Amino acid sequence: MTILVIAEHDNKVVAPATLNTVAAAAKIGGDIHVLVAGQGAGAVAEAAAKIAGVAKVLLADNAAYAHQLPENVAPLVAELGKGYSHILAAATSNGKNILPRVAAALDVDQISEIISVESADTFKRPIYAGNAIATVQSNAAVKVITVRATGFDPVAAEGGSAAVEAVGAAHDAGISSFVGEELAKSDRPELTAAKIVVSGGRGMQNGDNFKHLYALADKLGAAVGASRAAVDAGFVPNDMQVGQTGKIVAPQLYIAVGISGAIQHLAGMKDSKVIVAINKDEEAPIFQVADYGLVADLFEAIPELEKLV
Ligand SMILES: Cc1cc2nc3c(=O)[nH]c(=O)nc-3n(C[C@H](O)[C@H](O)[C@H](O)COP(=O)(O)OP(=O)(O)OC[C@H]3O[C@@H](n4cnc5c(N)ncnc54)[C@H](O)[C@@H]3O)c2cc1C
Repeated sequence: MTILVIAEHDNKVVAPATLNTVAAAAKIGGDIHVLVAGQGAGAVAEAAAKIAGVAKVLLADNAAYAHQLPENVAPLVAELGKGYSHILAAATSNGKNILPRVAAALDVDQISEIISVESADTFKRPIYAGNAIATVQSNAAVKVITVRATGFDPVAAEGGSAAVEAVGAAHDAGISSFVGEELAKSDRPELTAAKIVVSGGRGMQNGDNFKHLYALADKLGAAVGASRAAVDAGFVPNDMQVGQTGKIVAPQLYIAVGISGAIQHLAGMKDSKVIVAINKDEEAPIFQVADYGLVADLFEAIPELEKLV
C-alpha cells in the first residue's frame, strides 16, 4: 500500500494542515509519498522531505501549477494517483477544490472530511453538520479522501529524510487563469492553527465593536473568528467565519461572544477543548456546549476581562 498526500503550501512553506494529513496517512499504514505541485516550490519539497514518516516527495514544478489552479493540478494528481492505494488532501478550500475533480477523473467515490481511520478501507466522517458520525467503507481501487485536520494530531515537521523526485508531467488545461488575490494580512495566529480563538457574533452589533475582541485576542495571543451572522452583516470578512460553511477549529480555548450557538456554528467549534460563552440570554443554546458560561452584557464583560488578562 502506498499513499499519496497532496501538500498544502504557498510555494514557500508547507501549511500545517499537511502534517495532520500525513498523520491520517500514517494511521492507514504503508509508504507515504507527498506531492508538491507548484512553481519555484523547491523549498517546500525540501521541507516536505523532512516530515516524519514521509518516504518520498514528488515535486511537480511548473508554471501551470504556480497558483495551484484545480483545473491543472487535478489531472496531474489523477495521472500520478493511479498507482496509489489512497490519495489524501486536507479538507481545506484548496483540497476541497482539487480532490472531487480527481475522484471524478478516476471514476471513484470521494470520502470527505474523515475524522478517524478505522482500517485501510474504513473511515469515520461527520454528517448532518456533525450531529451524526458515519462509518464509511470503500472498495474503490484508489481511495480519494479529504482529511479534517482537527481530527488528527500533526506528525513532526522534522525527523524524516525522504528523497525528492522531480515529476515532468505538465497539465495546463487552459480553461482557467490566475487573475489576482487579496490576502488578509494579520499579525494574529491563523484561525485554524490558533491555540486560542475569540469569536464574535451578531451580538457585537457592528464591525467597529470587534475592536474589543481584537484587544482581548492580542493580549491572549489568540485568533479572532466570527459567526456567519456577523459575516453576513458585513461586520468582518468571511475568512473569519467559523462553522459548517466556514472554518473548522478545535483550539485549546474557544471564547464565543454574542453568539447564540446555532448547530451550524457548533459544527465548526464544538471539538474545542474548553469552550467559554458570553451571552446576555441565559437560554442561548451555546451554554449547552460551554464548559464555562457567563450570562452578561458583552460590552461590560469583555472590557472587564481584558483588564484582568
Ligand atoms: C446551510 C447553513 C449553513 C450555515 N453555516 C454557518 C456557519 O458556518 N457558521 C455560523 O456561525 N453560522 C452558520 N449558519 C447560520 C446559523 O444558522 C446562525 O444563523 C448563525 O450562526 C447565528 O449567528 P449568531 O449566533 O452570531 O447570531 P444570533 O443567532 O442572532 O445570536 C446573537 C446572540 O448574541 C446575543 N447577544 C446580543 N447582544 C448581546 C450583548 N450585548 N451581550 C451578550 N450577548 C448578546 C444574543 O442573546 C444572541 O444569543 C448557517 C446556516 C445555514 C442554513
